[in-house]
Amino acid sequence: MLNLILFGPPGSGKGTQSEKLIAKYGLKHLSTGDLLRSQIAQKTPLGLEAKSLMDKGQLVPDAVVIGMISSALESNPQAKGFLFDGFPRTPAQAEALDKLLELKGTSINKMLAMEVSEEELVNRLVKRGQTSGRSDDNNEAVIRARIAEYHDKTAVVADYYKKFDKVVNIKGEGSIDQIFNELCKEIELAAQD
Ligand code: ADP
Repeated sequence: MLNLILFGPPGSGKGTQSEKLIAKYGLKHLSTGDLLRSQIAQKTPLGLEAKSLMDKGQLVPDAVVIGMISSALESNPQAKGFLFDGFPRTPAQAEALDKLLELKGTSINKMLAMEVSEEELVNRLVKRGQTSGRSDDNNEAVIRARIAEYHDKTAVVADYYKKFDKVVNIKGEGSIDQIFNELCKEIELAAQD
């Protein structure tokens, strides 16, 4: 199996690149943001709880997202690999993911960490907010809160995978195709390991 984590702050281009990567490598895309937004659209109790946190730019509890990922892994037994997007976002989520993958006899091959300046992140998210309909994108204070959550709680997840020598940094500024090519180069190296 080929299991990849696409990592980076909000607005770093994970969603855009994920779509291209899953098409090229036939991976199953698991985005906790998308899974949560689908719960919100269906107005489930989980969705209602998550929405109030997401609208403030805060993370939802680990147990909620770990539970969602666990059932997504179970319901895709035929997948030839997974692309994790927006997960894991805390060290506890990273540890839980490792255990879930171990139970399936597999593991993370690489974390691809996208790097984008803070100014560019805010610009992109404000612009996305004008068309995406995402309530967490149309308020600059919420955007800044999400970036702060990333620095406080999520950035350390890269250190967790660095211990296992699994992190590669990718410059997330430039054209979409240029960035995609850089990601593909690293994925092809990872697939050879
Ligand atoms: P972005 O990368 O632009 O922040 P996402 O769609 O990945 O967008 O996430 C949107 C929101 O969903 C986050 O701000 C957070 O509230 C919640 N969320 C998504 N994934 C997780 C996660 N793994 N752990 C906790 N909260 C999450």
